[in-house]
Amino acid sequence: MRGLKAAGAAVFLMIVVVLVGESVRTAWSPVEETVVVLDPGHGGWDPGKVEGDLAEKDLNLRIAKTLALYLQTAGFEVRFTRQEDQALAEGKKDDLSARRDMGKQADIFISIHQNAYPSPEVFGAQVFYPSGQEKSQALAEKVQQRLVEQVNPQNHRQAKANDSYFVLKDMEQCAILVECGFLSNPDESQALTEETYQHKIAWAIYLGLMDEWLEEPEAFIVKNSLEKCVENQRRV
Ligand SMILES: [Zn+2]
Repeated sequence: MRGLKAAGAAVFLMIVVVLVGESVRTAWSPVEETVVVLDPGHGGWDPGKVEGDLAEKDLNLRIAKTLALYLQTAGFEVRFTRQEDQALAEGKKDDLSARRDMGKQADIFISIHQNAYPSPEVFGAQVFYPSGQEKSQALAEKVQQRLVEQVNPQNHRQAKANDSYFVLKDMEQCAILVECGFLSNPDESQALTEETYQHKIAWAIYLGLMDEWLEEPEAFIVKNSLEKCVENQRRV
């Protein structure tokens, strides 16, 4: 079943790619008008976790940009909290507030981070969601499944509610935070530097999103699309 779904998402993506290649607008795409805000964590003065010369902020941006390509090709409208190596404010709190404010304009908000832990053997991607938010939980579980399946089947982590991530606090939109791996684990941090591994992670997040989308598309249409519908009706 999961294989079939992956095939479905891949075929869907390929069809859109072909049409984009022929310069045909993807106006028919079932995900059109769904706004995804991607938040590559940290940036500028805030490197996030650092391991040797590897800074979390750079990996977050690379993975987010790859994910954006998949999402845009499928027809999603993608916005970034940042596309360069820069923070959104001079202080941490203002920076996080700015990211969350941008997330609140989205139908789907995905924050990308890397983890670290004192014990180097700890590894594995993990997806977090704000507790009590069913849509976010459902998306987090789908993305977690895909990360395990596509990136590392040895990873036994599960999607988890978390209320200490500031960017997820009070988010009524579908919102998740993906910790893609542990920079403190030598094997995982090495893999994270490789482009193919970064693409695998982005692909897994995309597939998880499509799994949830195909199962329950209306769950994503929270704000922007509804507002656009009302606006269009007014014009008629
Ligand atoms: Zn981080």
